[in-house]
Amino acid sequence: MTVLIRGAYLRGREGSWDLAIEGERIAALDRSLEVSAEREIDGAGCLLVPGLVNGHMHFDKCMLGDVMRPNESQTLQEAIYITWDHKREYTPAEIADRAAPVVDRGIVHGTTAVRAFADVDPIGGTVPVEGLLELKARFEGETHFEVVAFPQEAIVREPGTAVLMEECMRLGADVVGGLPWYERTDGAMRDHVDFCFELAERTGKDIHMLVDDTDDAYSRSLEYLAVRAIEEGYQGRVSASHCGALAAYDHSHAEKVIGLVREAEITVFSNAQISLVMDGRNDRGLIRRGTTRVKELLAAGVNVASAQDDVNDPYYPFGRPDQLEVGQYMAHVAQLTYPSELETVFDMVSANAARALRLDGYGIEPGALADLVLIEAPTVRDALRLLPPRRAVFHRGRLVAESRAESVRHRAGG
Ligand SMILES: [Zn+2]
Repeated sequence: MTVLIRGAYLRGREGSWDLAIEGERIAALDRSLEVSAEREIDGAGCLLVPGLVNGHMHFDKCMLGDVMRPNESQTLQEAIYITWDHKREYTPAEIADRAAPVVDRGIVHGTTAVRAFADVDPIGGTVPVEGLLELKARFEGETHFEVVAFPQEAIVREPGTAVLMEECMRLGADVVGGLPWYERTDGAMRDHVDFCFELAERTGKDIHMLVDDTDDAYSRSLEYLAVRAIEEGYQGRVSASHCGALAAYDHSHAEKVIGLVREAEITVFSNAQISLVMDGRNDRGLIRRGTTRVKELLAAGVNVASAQDDVNDPYYPFGRPDQLEVGQYMAHVAQLTYPSELETVFDMVSANAARALRLDGYGIEPGALADLVLIEAPTVRDALRLLPPRRAVFHRGRLVAESRAESVRHRAGG
């Protein structure tokens, strides 16, 4: 064996367990394994889980917070202009250099797969996609990395974008992105969705759109996206991030749309941190949370996931990025706090996101790929409560990160 992890706790199983890795895969899992290995890791007191999955992350914009000018008006519009100023100057190497430390931090925090969004528009052309493809190459063998060609300024209202989307898929983007709700009319929204399906089918790729990221109850692109997914046989191959407007619909319409989303097997990504700071900006008194109907989607059997979205950029000043922290925010925002709900939250930043990315061999049984995290906490609740160090992180059986907590408490009179 190449690796033996001793005495770790697993989700949903009693007692402590030994896990052996051979090459890229999990070779054995039992209460006690009598095997020798090149490397042995003490898992005592730790929870051993499949890798965390960050399924929505803007690596082309991340860390601009360190170099951008101040947002004087403190408005979204100025944040957009600041982004454009930088985007005009992007080079692929600059993007990859700026984002690499953030990918590293994610790996240290146990992320073994990421889906990275790259803006595609006439301002930056194909450069953001080229930058994230370079980033992907730099992390080959260290994390699963997907690049989404994302039309940040929409498609119909921004002439030239359709051609750029085609070019980005030719360059090697892995997923067709979309932003249908940002078009000016319902007709343009439908043309946008139709274009993305045509491009995805022609290139054999999956689809991940940002959908109805607004409190506007008349923003209804999720419904059309679901119907088109069903018509095109794209069940299980479409993800929709945000879907905030779903929370603004009247309940009977929301129920209808949730039914369509379920039938289309769309994954809904709800990213609590960015929604909390970006949505409901015009509200007075109580400020809405910008979050979709997470509990209702879960109850209907929809696959719901949660992701970091942004790290230190013109839109969001924080972001570790740590999928456990993402889960902790989601637990607060969606009020998922009872024991089985905490398990669901943990799934949202791991297994549910893995399902959205259709990761092969994801899991913790013999034969699965050894993408694993050893968390220094015995239970899911403690992991979400404490956000403790990830003692060891494995990608395809290879140890890619280790962390230790080092604190010393000095007692009075000691
Ligand atoms: Zn986003």
